Amino acid sequence: MSYLKLLKITWNNPWTLNPNVYVPRIDQIDYSKLKELGIKYLVFDKDNTLTAHLKNEFYDNKIQSCVRNEIKQTYDENSQIYIVSNSIKTEQKQNEVQQNLGIQLILTNQKKPHNFQEIINHIKQKNAKVLVKNHEIAFFGDRLFTDVLLANLNGAVSIYTDPFNNQNEHLGIWLFRKIEKQIFSKFQNSRSINLYYLNQNIQNFDKVVIKQSQQQ
Ligand SMILES: [Mg+2]
Repeated sequence: MSYLKLLKITWNNPWTLNPNVYVPRIDQIDYSKLKELGIKYLVFDKDNTLTAHLKNEFYDNKIQSCVRNEIKQTYDENSQIYIVSNSIKTEQKQNEVQQNLGIQLILTNQKKPHNFQEIINHIKQKNAKVLVKNHEIAFFGDRLFTDVLLANLNGAVSIYTDPFNNQNEHLGIWLFRKIEKQIFSKFQNSRSINLYYLNQNIQNFDKVVIKQSQQQ
């Protein structure tokens, strides 16, 4: 799919950029609740979601503890937790990330939001005995035009976070963030959630999966 075509799709279907859940940081999600509601696979963006931009260690102790304790106690690290990043290009970096973060990396030829097929193929391969469904996958990331769009276009669950900081990002990302911020502000009061397949009885999915202590 070309970028021009993508732009046309998002222009005509703004909901494709509207995240199912918004939390400032991934450690504010209640992972046992997420699992209870039918989410079986977690796919994390790396830069500004788990680590600082282009860094290979967790952004802070809270994020590290969230991944190592809460997430890994709830989900199987060999088959249910993954990282997909547009910024990891070399094998050396790939090994570093896997070693430091302890989460397996899915390497794809295409970039987000174009690489869903490659991602789900990998997840299916790791879970050969079960039927993996798109709506059982949650994507976490700090960008609307990559992470959220990837999930929404494919019927997965999109969880949008704030970036930790914008330092060291190039001008293109900075500009895109400005646009994303504008778009997101339009959605603030209308979390349009199409979670039909997941569980028809879920009310306020976006609120339920956020830790109680984080809610006002
Ligand atoms: Mg990112």
